[in-house]
Amino acid sequence: MKYLDEFSDPVLARRLFDEIRALTTQPWSLMEVCGGQTHSIIRHGIDQLLPDEIQLIHGPGCPVCVTPLETIDKALEIASRPEVVFCSFGDMLRVPGSGRDLFKVKSEGGDVRVVYSPLDALRIAQDNPDRQVVFFGIGFETTAPPNAMTVYQAKKLGIGNFSLLVSHVRVPPAIDAIMNSPDCRVQAFLAAGHVCTVMGTAEYPELAERHKVPIVVTGFEPLDILEGIRRAVRQLEAGRHVVENAYPRAVQPEGSPAARAMLADVFEVTDRAWRGIGMIPRSGWRLSPRYRDYDAEHRFSVTDIDTQESTVCRSGEVLQGLIKPHECAAFGKQCTPRNPLGATMVSSEGACAAYYLYRRLQVPTTQEASSVG
Ligand code: SF4
Repeated sequence: MKYLDEFSDPVLARRLFDEIRALTTQPWSLMEVCGGQTHSIIRHGIDQLLPDEIQLIHGPGCPVCVTPLETIDKALEIASRPEVVFCSFGDMLRVPGSGRDLFKVKSEGGDVRVVYSPLDALRIAQDNPDRQVVFFGIGFETTAPPNAMTVYQAKKLGIGNFSLLVSHVRVPPAIDAIMNSPDCRVQAFLAAGHVCTVMGTAEYPELAERHKVPIVVTGFEPLDILEGIRRAVRQLEAGRHVVENAYPRAVQPEGSPAARAMLADVFEVTDRAWRGIGMIPRSGWRLSPRYRDYDAEHRFSVTDIDTQESTVCRSGEVLQGLIKPHECAAFGKQCTPRNPLGATMVSSEGACAAYYLYRRLQVPTTQEASSVG
């Protein structure tokens, strides 16, 4: 398949593995930011074929996984209301809130619908003027532009029964927070190529310089990832720390000006809590005052949310790269994709789901298991 097969070529992959091996003289820890990259790495066994000195740390770039529990609980409360049609992408329906999920709300009679675009939700609002239609807008810089455009369209067309439950997050502040953590082991980042397709690369040089960390914009196919690793290791071995674009077929330095303009019109930057990680300053977007009437939190006044995280789930440590999924005592036992205890087991981009799906089923040692609170 064009643009896929040539980026999985085994001969070229072997050459890149050889180059990485030849470059590597000491241990290095690299973080791939995006959950899509994590799945590609685990699926193709890239981490197992790298030199022992190269450790890949799986980052927090899974939108479903980092959506705060409080926001999930707000979604559950709004979706339970009889006047509401609650629309979402399918992977949010099984994300556990405090005790239940959107599937449970649906089974109890809530009008919860899976859609494939926020514009589908807008169409439902147009077709059902007597109902309140809410779209669950989560994700990174990649999903924010179409959600922004949908709110823009709703306002332009005067569709007043549509609103957005917003939980958008931004990658650069997360990189900053990871580097500021006292437990940080990351020495280089593979930045998410699709995020940079939208936002460009302008936000990264300052981070690379301040934290003395190489940042390589990387794609998602095996050769993309290997080339990102090769460039990151080459910088580390040379003592350099700059931003490189290893995904030029998709990423321009300026990103997509049209998408960025839409984001700037509809959203404003805000502090945002990340599930399992906590509050990260200026790491999210919310609707700007001009579009506040389309904010579902504002419209439905969902307050007094009492959240309760699973006491077993260690997804916060997984999301910060502090443990591998199979080091959680619940992995593959109480927690599976059919019965997830945490969001990282639900999402198709979650690290726990990737380890389960691709059979990384090593059980933790007794000592690791006993440390679970
Ligand atoms: S395996 Fe399940 S319980 Fe353990 S960290 Fe992952 S999602 Fe949480």
